[in-house]
Amino acid sequence: MHDTLSFITPDPHSAWGTYLSQVDRVLPYLGPLARWGETLKRPKRALIVDVPIEMDDGTVRHFEGYRVQHNLSRGPGKGGVRYHPAVTLEEVMALSAWMTVKNAAVNLPYGGAKGGIRVDPRQLSHKELERMTRRYTSEIGLVIGPQQDIPAPDVGTNPQVMAWMMDTYSMNVGGTATGVVTGKPVHLGGSLGRVKATGRGVFVTGREAARRIHLNLDGARVAVQGFGNVGSAAAEMFVGAGAKIVAVQDHTGTIANPAGMDMGALMEVVRRDGGAGAFTQAERIDDEAFWDTDCDILIPAALEGQITLARANRLKARLVLEGANGPTHPDADDALAERGILVVPDVICNAGGVTVSYFEWVQDFSSFFWTEDEINLRLDKIMVDALRRIWDTADRHKITLRTATFAVACERILMARQERGLYP
Ligand code: GLU
Repeated sequence: MHDTLSFITPDPHSAWGTYLSQVDRVLPYLGPLARWGETLKRPKRALIVDVPIEMDDGTVRHFEGYRVQHNLSRGPGKGGVRYHPAVTLEEVMALSAWMTVKNAAVNLPYGGAKGGIRVDPRQLSHKELERMTRRYTSEIGLVIGPQQDIPAPDVGTNPQVMAWMMDTYSMNVGGTATGVVTGKPVHLGGSLGRVKATGRGVFVTGREAARRIHLNLDGARVAVQGFGNVGSAAAEMFVGAGAKIVAVQDHTGTIANPAGMDMGALMEVVRRDGGAGAFTQAERIDDEAFWDTDCDILIPAALEGQITLARANRLKARLVLEGANGPTHPDADDALAERGILVVPDVICNAGGVTVSYFEWVQDFSSFFWTEDEINLRLDKIMVDALRRIWDTADRHKITLRTATFAVACERILMARQERGLYP
């Protein structure tokens, strides 16, 4: 028997509850390493910080920020920073845990971490955003660093935010520290290919999965939820492979066009409005109707908890590619498996972003930068090799790709845990 965490009673459909049930499902496949399984069910370290800033109108506002290091057995912490009004400690814990699994699934020499601030960044001016980012970076300066924990972009953050983080950390330590964050602008030690890397990884894993289930991408109908950095880049690459985008949902609305949408025109609207909702070459439909879209591939690329049991039972896709972290509830996951709908889980599907973050970190250390072709080729190879190993594991044990990804990753994490031993 183990004590549970005192400060959280997770609901089974919350992000942390979802993660815990994913861990429970993999434990039977870990053999003697399951002895260390409890390690996975609690974060190593969680920091809550107060982030006070002066607003442009002279008032003072306080934001609540977090940095959680879920596991550091395989290396420094690694994972993004989220700015969103729904951010909570529990959510950041789950996101950090998924980073641990993701990083191990593609065999990057990292543990898992995540950070966030509960804020709607759209409501802040550019200067307010900068002040908040700098104060947050200073506050989490206790635990981050190029060899400790390396933040990166996530929902609501971008290369500009990473530039401020890098600058603040560098000023505080008294020397340029490009390796403290990834996803930086290219002329500040960022990597070519990083911006589209997550979407590219979704495409690469999707392409491989489609090949295995004999789904031809040429003419395949794709529905995308979330048209930010991940969803839009993945959509562009699927269109490049001959697929058509038949539905898009984002915070500005839901649009559908069974004939497929013109990506160039759609991207122009997204750049102009910050969303796809006003695109006129598609029909505006009810948000909930998105889940009934006639499609072959569904890409949830927004937030957690989107594929509920009820929605899973309605989906028409053959293949679900989890661009988002934690988009599927555990009971919905079972329903999809029963219905023969293949899910490429977040912890491998969206690992392309952190893989190129790793390339960025390596390039920063050696101060030697690679070409975009080199980056994309290496990314493709890492994703294909990782997915092959996961697929073999799934076939061997007759388990879902999600449990297989957890099996491959958790074996690496717990093996490192065991070999390092308990201190003292
Ligand atoms: N936020 C991204 C993710 O969820 C990228 C993290 C990183 O590059 O460290 O995987």
